[in-house]
Amino acid sequence: IARNPGEPEFHQAVKEVLESLKPLLQVRPEYQNAGILERIVEPERQIIFRVPWVDDQGRVQVNRGFRVEFNSAIGPYKGGLRFHPSVNLGIIKFLGFEQIFKNSLTGTPIGGGKGGSDFDPKGKSDGEIMRFCQSFMTELYRHIGPDTDVPAGDIGVGAREIGYMFGQYKRIRNAFEGVLTGKGLTYGGSLVRKEATGYGLIYLVEEMLRDKQKGFDGATVVISGSGNVAIYAAEKAMQLGAKVVAMSDSNGYVYDSEGIKLDTVKRIKEIERKRIKEYVNIHPKAEYHEGCSGIWSVPCDIALPCATQNELDGEAAKILVKNGCFAVGEGANMPSTPEAIEVFMNNKVLFAPAKAANAGGVATSSLEMTQNSMRLPWSFEEVDSKLRNIMVNIYKSISETAKEYGCEGNLVAGANIAGFVKVADAMLAQGVV
Ligand code: NDP
Repeated sequence: IARNPGEPEFHQAVKEVLESLKPLLQVRPEYQNAGILERIVEPERQIIFRVPWVDDQGRVQVNRGFRVEFNSAIGPYKGGLRFHPSVNLGIIKFLGFEQIFKNSLTGTPIGGGKGGSDFDPKGKSDGEIMRFCQSFMTELYRHIGPDTDVPAGDIGVGAREIGYMFGQYKRIRNAFEGVLTGKGLTYGGSLVRKEATGYGLIYLVEEMLRDKQKGFDGATVVISGSGNVAIYAAEKAMQLGAKVVAMSDSNGYVYDSEGIKLDTVKRIKEIERKRIKEYVNIHPKAEYHEGCSGIWSVPCDIALPCATQNELDGEAAKILVKNGCFAVGEGANMPSTPEAIEVFMNNKVLFAPAKAANAGGVATSSLEMTQNSMRLPWSFEEVDSKLRNIMVNIYKSISETAKEYGCEGNLVAGANIAGFVKVADAMLAQGVV
């Protein structure tokens, strides 16, 4: 804590991982002897830079850019870029740290990294977004590359922003290469990447439910957020027969007892870029409530937090349990506080942690890198079936690892241990670097 002051989210993420490694370290003391723990919590490189840009009024604005290249033991750094006013070094470090283990769980050769800026895309014109993205890439380009570091999207960074950044990279480097994932389909993007994190979440939760003879069919589901992850989690859950009754944004949530009409949400959020409260203007029988955390008071069987970190606390977890919720799958990164996770564990709620449950996005990004290297696109069905296989394998690996280390059913421990072992073994093999 003294070494990394003012980084509470990073401390929270590290504490959770290190605590759950205890049973592993008892039987594999070589990890401690070789200083793996000290090395794995220290980023290989962190870059902080100025991002100046000119707004529509002709004024100069300055934001801060970050890229934390955390661990390259098993492959080039890989992880998204987040544009949100809450971004600071501690947030990027927590996300980059989590990314190491998540990427390892996918079974594909990618290391861990994360980046972003405190730039707020809300209310900005298209021209402002483009000028910001170009300025951001004008510094970032010198640190990344298809065999070095391959960023993707995250909160506030979707296909539009990736497109502007890719254009600027190509212009500076004079190279058309797979340096970013989440690209548009006409210039090297992969089918299913847009849907991948949400679909992957549902594929993994489906496996977890199957183990207990349960499923999505007929279940009532609450999903926080209404961004990329939330929308495609809702889509796949509905395809499997679930009724999604509530979704949110950072201002509030909508409740539709007849089931959320996803086409309306897509139009409001993906095309018009408006607020979720618009939903009730189109479907007046639905309700809108101010305040996003109230969404956890909506009774449901399955809760899928898909907005942001620490959005579901101990009190919210107790309400979910009281209302009969039996499964939680984390679509966002670290959305449940440690207190919330404790409530779920103590009440036998099936709990799929983010590292495993939202790994489908980065796994499909890795498939996009493969297609870019081969210069060959795969069909939707092919990528979707590879994604599904990856998620099924992640579930198998984390549930078997939990069993092996004496904590059957604890998928948090299973994910942390399984993700760690592969990276730690690669670090051991590569010597003290
Ligand atoms: P988007 O920007 O598409 O959507 C984010 C959603 O979360 C919006 O509805 C947003 O509401 C809401 N939100 C953001 N910040 C807050 C906040 N501080 N409080 C309450 N609500 C908030 O992002 P994504 O869907 O891509 O990302 C969502 C989560 O999933 C993040 O934790 C991200 O790290 C994680 N993730 C994303 C992956 C991806 O492939 N995109 C991959 C793996 C994880 P509003 O519009 O009001 O800001």
